[in-house]
Formats: sequence, structure tokens, C-alpha cells
Amino acid sequence: MKISEKFDPCFAWRAVELAARGEGHTRPNPPVGAVIVRGGKIVGEGWHRRCGGDHAEVAAIKDAARRGESVRGATLYVTLEPCSRPGRVGACTDAIVAAGIGRVAFAVRDPNPVNSGRAGRVLSRAGVECAVPSRANTLEGKWDPSGGMASALAAARRLIAPFAKYVTTGMPYVTVKLAMSLDGKSATGAGTRSGYRPRRRERSRDASASAWTR
Ligand SMILES: [Zn+2]
Repeated sequence: MKISEKFDPCFAWRAVELAARGEGHTRPNPPVGAVIVRGGKIVGEGWHRRCGGDHAEVAAIKDAARRGESVRGATLYVTLEPCSRPGRVGACTDAIVAAGIGRVAFAVRDPNPVNSGRAGRVLSRAGVECAVPSRANTLEGKWDPSGGMASALAAARRLIAPFAKYVTTGMPYVTVKLAMSLDGKSATGAGTRSGYRPRRRERSRDASASAWTR
């Protein structure tokens, strides 16, 4: 597989933003986002909305068709290595080849050992250039709309962290959330702390963790 130097952070970030829309709704699949770029312009966007629905890549191809845009020779940016075996839906590598997409840049390899690296081989054999960003062309120190040290690649990795944990260890990804007082106590003598109302950001995190908010 070829490591491309042309990986563009702006489009990678857009794919991450799209993927985040599916967070908490795609189980057991991970959230994935995709952007199709042709002539420097976005011609299609998609994300995986729910298990059994279109994968991000196919959603983006359909979006381009709806916009009346051609994807021939275009570049597909996707947050996760495309699937290369049919499952509940057809393999994305087949859809990518059939659509005539010229180049695929994916942020993270599929952590599932059965599939990891397979899409690159399948696509390359079909004449589609594949790029995975190398350490040298990650976004650290370049353009980072979050204003922090996080890069689009790190963000893409974070998005699939629960999925990666599960497929590699069989264990769930656990997040602990405690409503605590300033003195470090999480409960009163009578039981749980009263008057706690989760803020919106916390509720959204609860949803992405499949957690119930009381
Ligand atoms: Zn797929």
C-alpha cells in the first residue's frame, strides 16, 4: 500500500465531523464518516446512521448522485478502513470500485484483525490508489480546528475506541462518570447525591456510551 503525501486535513476533519453524527446510534458497528472530493471540491458526503443502513462510503456515493456530481476518479476520505467483505450490506470496496472512485484515503485501519489491511489490498488490486496517513503527514502542528493538539487522525481513532476495544479484546470500553462534590465525595450518607442534572454535553456522552442518564 502506498503512503500518500497528498492527504488533506480539511477533508479528513470533515469526515470526522460527519462520523460523529452517528455516534451512539450505530452499534455494533462503529461510527464512520466519508467525504468525496473531486477537483478540490466536496461532491458527496455521508455517514453511517445505524446498523443495517448504508455505510458512510455508500451514503457519500449516493449523496454525490443526488447532487448530480460524478465521482469518477474522485478521492474518497473515510474515517475508517472500508469494509471488504459483505455483511448486513454489500462490501464497500465493491461499491467504491463500481463507482469508479480513483483514490481512497482512510484515517484508521480496521482494528479487527480479520479485516485489517484487507481493503487496501482489494482496492489496490482493482486499480484504486489507497492512502493511509503516515506519522510524517499527520496533522499535529498543522491545521487543527479544535485548537488543541488533537489531529483528525487522533479524532478518528477516538471515534472507534469502543469498537476497537471490543473487536480486539472482546471486552467493553468502559467510561466511569461520577457526580462528585469538591471534597471528592460521590454520595451522601443517605445515598446518591441529590440535585444532579447532567449537562447537555454529558448527556450526549452518555448516549455515545450506550448509558442511561437518570
Ligand atoms: Zn462498509
